[in-house]
Amino acid sequence: MSEPVRSIMVVGGGTAGWSAAALLSNVLGPTCKITLIESSDIPTVGVGEATIPPIFEFLQNCGIDEVDFIRRCQATFKLAIRFDDWLHRGHRYWHPFGTFGMTINQRPFHHYWWKNKAQGHAETLADFCPSIALAEACKFVFPSPDGSFPGGGVAFALHFDAGLVAQYLRAHAEKAGVQRLDRRIKGATVSADGLITSVVCDDGEELQADLYIDCSGFRGLLIEESLKAGYDDWSHWLPCDRAVAVPSAPLPGRTPYTIAGAQEAGWRWRIPLQNRVGNGYVWSSKFTDEAAATATLLSVLDASPLAEPRHLRFTAGHRKAMWIGNCVAVGLSSGFLEPLESNSIHLIHTALNRLIDYFPRRDFEPSLAQAYNREAAAEYAHIRDFILLHYVPNQRVGEPFWDYMRGLELPLSLAEKIDLFQASGRIVSRRRELFADISWFFVAHGMGIDAAQYDPLIDAAPFADVRGIIGQMREVMQRYQAAARSHDDILALMLDPRETRRPNFGFRRGEIGR
Ligand SMILES: Cc1cc2nc3c(=O)[nH]c(=O)nc-3n(C[C@H](O)[C@H](O)[C@H](O)COP(=O)(O)OP(=O)(O)OC[C@H]3O[C@@H](n4cnc5c(N)ncnc54)[C@H](O)[C@@H]3O)c2cc1C
Repeated sequence: MSEPVRSIMVVGGGTAGWSAAALLSNVLGPTCKITLIESSDIPTVGVGEATIPPIFEFLQNCGIDEVDFIRRCQATFKLAIRFDDWLHRGHRYWHPFGTFGMTINQRPFHHYWWKNKAQGHAETLADFCPSIALAEACKFVFPSPDGSFPGGGVAFALHFDAGLVAQYLRAHAEKAGVQRLDRRIKGATVSADGLITSVVCDDGEELQADLYIDCSGFRGLLIEESLKAGYDDWSHWLPCDRAVAVPSAPLPGRTPYTIAGAQEAGWRWRIPLQNRVGNGYVWSSKFTDEAAATATLLSVLDASPLAEPRHLRFTAGHRKAMWIGNCVAVGLSSGFLEPLESNSIHLIHTALNRLIDYFPRRDFEPSLAQAYNREAAAEYAHIRDFILLHYVPNQRVGEPFWDYMRGLELPLSLAEKIDLFQASGRIVSRRRELFADISWFFVAHGMGIDAAQYDPLIDAAPFADVRGIIGQMREVMQRYQAAARSHDDILALMLDPRETRRPNFGFRRGEIGR
């Protein structure tokens, strides 16, 4: 049997690098020496501020206390994303976390919702979705542990300061024995059989390990510059290739949700933290320019900017191989999809979980890398399709960027999904896919895609009984929303060092939309 991996070198100290160091040091313990190299001269991207509920699984897997993390990373709670102006100007819809109504006769509630609507009843999505009901009222409640409607259906994530998160993860990893080296790397040496044998620093020093994790950001210092992985460029589907970001002063009434607002040539984000608001505009250089994008972003701020705008460039897509030989790319070095659904930090965590699932020995058995690469590519394609669903049905006719997006030739995987939904109301997510059926339902419905028919099995439940359940749910939901406290109140309680009660973080492994 081949020897186990005894040493890992993580190249890069952004969110990806320190996430890798924190998680792997917790999982591998003293069996493996972990070194992280970063250059204090090369800045991190550092704008990843919105997450999705599995963030709590990651924190648990690292052995991190959630309350301490929230207190130190200026975090706020996130129940949903509010999409403004995507279908057309003045329109708004929600993509919430958590459940929607309750399963009746083993069929998901969204089918009953279609039938109820088709029969002319006027209940809104918020009447059955606790996360939307709370978000609309700017309130927050931790999920009730019993799982009953509505409190058991709340799920949430965090907004946080990415710079503080990297510092937090660094302290955690260093405490667990990770060694940090401040070096600028100029390249790597590669053996005839395609394995990295060392990384080479600017001063010529060579550093060795068994396994290398490339977290060097967009340039992909090892995976691309040394191993020539190649890139699947998806910018014809996702033409946004630039972003401008600027923080602004905090305002009371912090929203427990992210806002993603459609703009002329892309979309802008608004992410409230405890001490500031993160803002940015993700735009396409084919449809606008830097000066116009910056002016647009500054014009929509609701408080004064706290810094100069920062500009970033990217190309949608992913490396053709994310694991080659003894090198695995994690984070921006592996690929990038615009962060419309707060998907990038999550992709870091799933990459690390996948690496743990397929953790190699020193023979670097090629079938492990093949399985890893297959799953990683499928995950990127799934998220790409879900992001496209937000754009393609838009009705912003006469606006060049939006006309382009509406006219796209869709990936077959997405075209089939939309056809199935339109014809039958059915969406079938595969196991391990990030966005479950209910997420597709919320975005499809929000973007005006209607199903021609609902699931025929819905008719097995007498509709009068269903109407009774609907009435009860609505009543319970209204009481629940009225009794909840404001998001600011809950944050203040959470940040009070005298407060020692531990809330229920409510994350159940493997679930995002539920
Ligand atoms: C506009 C924008 C908005 C985003 N918003 C979100 C969001 O809301 N939610 C979300 O989940 N994600 C978001 N992301 C993605 C998120 O920012 C990234 O996933 C995350 O920051 C990971 O970056 P990274 O660690 O891979 O790379 P980086 O942050 O670029 O870090 C690279 C590291 O490598 C080091 N390095 C590079 N070259 C060398 C060298 N030669 N020698 C030594 N060290 C080197 C650098 O010093 C640095 O430490 C966003 C991204 C962008 C571009």
